[in-house]
Amino acid sequence: MSDIIKETFGICTSRLLRATQLEFEPDETEINMWVVPSQSNKAIKYYVRHSLDCESGKMFWSCTCDDFFFRKGHCKHILAVRVRNMA
Ligand SMILES: [Zn+2]
Repeated sequence: MSDIIKETFGICTSRLLRATQLEFEPDETEINMWVVPSQSNKAIKYYVRHSLDCESGKMFWSCTCDDFFFRKGHCKHILAVRVRNMA
């Protein structure tokens, strides 16, 4: 894992490495949306979105998982999509 990615996300490398092992696929109905199956239960799917915040005019990331909901930070699903899209 490159230092650039590590600095960009400001998180530890082991967490990033785990994120890169997640499999995901683009959603067929919407651009800038990805479907990431739960690691513990493949029947559960989370939706990662990169969308525009109309008030601030900035792009932001979101995910439908509990981790994102409670911590409001980047969960591993968002990391998975972001890291793979940078590579
Ligand atoms: Zn998530």
